[in-house]
Amino acid sequence: MRTPLLAGNWKMHCTPTETAALIQELRASLGDYDQREVLVAPPFTALATAATELDGSGILLAGQDLHWEDSGAFTGEIAGPMLTAVGCSHAIIGHSERRQYFGETDGRVALKIRAALRNRLVPIVCVGETLEERESGQMTDVIERQVRGALGALDARSIGSSVLAYEPVWAIGTGRVATPDQAQEVHAAIRALLGEIADADAAASCRILYGGSVKPDNVDTLMAQPDIDGALVGGASLKAKDFARIVHFQS
Ligand code: PEP
Repeated sequence: MRTPLLAGNWKMHCTPTETAALIQELRASLGDYDQREVLVAPPFTALATAATELDGSGILLAGQDLHWEDSGAFTGEIAGPMLTAVGCSHAIIGHSERRQYFGETDGRVALKIRAALRNRLVPIVCVGETLEERESGQMTDVIERQVRGALGALDARSIGSSVLAYEPVWAIGTGRVATPDQAQEVHAAIRALLGEIADADAAASCRILYGGSVKPDNVDTLMAQPDIDGALVGGASLKAKDFARIVHFQS
């Protein structure tokens, strides 16, 4: 069985002081939960503070990106060993905002996934189509290209332990959420593709999160879908009570 993963992507929000306050509020709001994993991805400058505040909570920590090399002359970049050293267990890779604004390519995503695995970081690999691609009938091709580009050269074991996030670009930060049926259709297609790229075991164990305007009022129906194994949450993860409700989804 796949343990649901509820992950908060804080994007470019929160100083260390704000991070400490948000994590304290989140811990107070969350109470007890079991049979699910919770993760937050604050900005790099707040990871150390976040690690201290999360101590003993069981909440996991992720970087929002990483460089494909482990060190070197790459001004402004953050490497896998730095994320591991500060307490991260996961790294988000290939978020659509990085693809859209920072020229992230499928090739670079693949290199970054290797860097994450090399550093014992679980990659959370984002894929998803734009509205234009969906409306022009290219959705399946785009997602297949992204998934193959990201994972195609990995062994089945690495694929099975990785996390994918299907995030339709038109649903990110727009308040426009994919319907549970739309999301399920793509998640099932991705899982079938993983079966082709790797094998049935890897496809069955790889968690596929949905992302795109997940909120307390839509999480339950999304999580009721058989191939939706969690959520990557942007805006709502910055509100402790909303994120706590998302973690406590009922399906
Ligand atoms: C995201 O940042 O990955 C995301 C899905 O954002 P939002 O929940 O705000 O749409």
